Amino acid sequence: MIDVKTLEIDEEMLLRANSDIATRSTTGAFIYLLIWFAITISHKFYSAEPTIFIFFTSAFVLLAMARVALIRNFEKIYHRNVLLWKTCFFPAVWGAAFLWGVLCYMALVDPRLEALTLSVVISTAGLTAGGVTALLPDRLLTIGLFTAFLLPAEFTLFHTEFREFSVNILFLVYWVGMYSITRIQHEEYWVGLKHMFLIKKHAQELEQLNTLDGLTGLKNRSFFDETLRKEMKSGVRKQSQLSLMLIDIDYFKEVNDRYGHLAGDECLRKLAVVLKEQVQRETDTVARYGGEEFAVILPADDRKQAIVVAKQIRKAVEEIDCRWGKDRVFFTVSIGVASIIPQLGDIQEKLIALADQALYQAKAGGRNQVRGLLD
Ligand code: GH3
Ligand code: MG
Ligand code: MG
Repeated sequence: MIDVKTLEIDEEMLLRANSDIATRSTTGAFIYLLIWFAITISHKFYSAEPTIFIFFTSAFVLLAMARVALIRNFEKIYHRNVLLWKTCFFPAVWGAAFLWGVLCYMALVDPRLEALTLSVVISTAGLTAGGVTALLPDRLLTIGLFTAFLLPAEFTLFHTEFREFSVNILFLVYWVGMYSITRIQHEEYWVGLKHMFLIKKHAQELEQLNTLDGLTGLKNRSFFDETLRKEMKSGVRKQSQLSLMLIDIDYFKEVNDRYGHLAGDECLRKLAVVLKEQVQRETDTVARYGGEEFAVILPADDRKQAIVVAKQIRKAVEEIDCRWGKDRVFFTVSIGVASIIPQLGDIQEKLIALADQALYQAKAGGRNQVRGLLD
């Protein structure tokens, strides 16, 4: 069992965390303005102190616009340069919080904002808690955020007329509380994210294993069936050639009878290695069709090209050095190749039957040979 805490944070996880931050921060772009309006409208502050009102309103609007522009271009900026993203986005977030912090300081010491004091202080606490919860995937961003919110109010200490010393202590305690709570939440977020990535990775590995043949490591029969079905469809659409090779080991029963099934298995593994070596194009599929039969799907290949590959395989198999004890197990293969340009309504069995027919001809012709058939 893997301990997720020890799991390295990779690029993909960082992208996910930063994308989470960008998404979660969308509300934050507008929340300052909304709360600011809610507080000032109820106190008719805009007519009492229009200069202060206009200053804070425009500053919050500008910061909201900057943040929205950054969030909308997250993918572009982040993929170009992670540092550039952080140097633009972090100050935009901290800037708005700091501006609110300054507002809180003013509400505490400036008589012109006296009517707003209670609402602003309460909102500062709410905004701080909400902000850190949203942005906790990044520790630096979170610490910067609640510091920007809470620090300006501490400057009331230097204000001789300000008597509410308790607010300073309260904000300090709140800062410490935020620091320790967000540390835990930050860790929990990352444990959750790592779990998610681990599950995703295991699911992909399982899916991959599901497509493989246990003995040879080649693709298995069900993967072959699915791939051939898809290639037939794509061939109909593109009206392109599709070739299929069926490979069968000659007299394999004798190999098993003479050397035993374990030796037979070793031959199958050696043959699989040769097939992988000979069929290297990414679009081609090498699979174990069943028993000692293998199949190769060659999309976009005509019969001539497919036969060239088949002949190379046949020759390479003759040269396989399969050792079993002191013996060298010699074996050959017969290969049937079929090519079609799939038409609407054609089913994959049509191509398989053709390749099978070609294989039968190769066997009947004396084995260790390649035969091809056209539709
Ligand atoms: P032919 O040239 O006509 O193909 O002769 P053959 O002996 O290869 O054909 P047949 O179909 O009679 O025998 C196939 C043999 O393949 C029988 C079976 O024991 C063997 N075989 C199938 N799957 C495996 C496997 O996974 N391991 C081993 N060792 N043998 C297998
Ligand atoms: Mg067979
Ligand atoms: Mg055989």
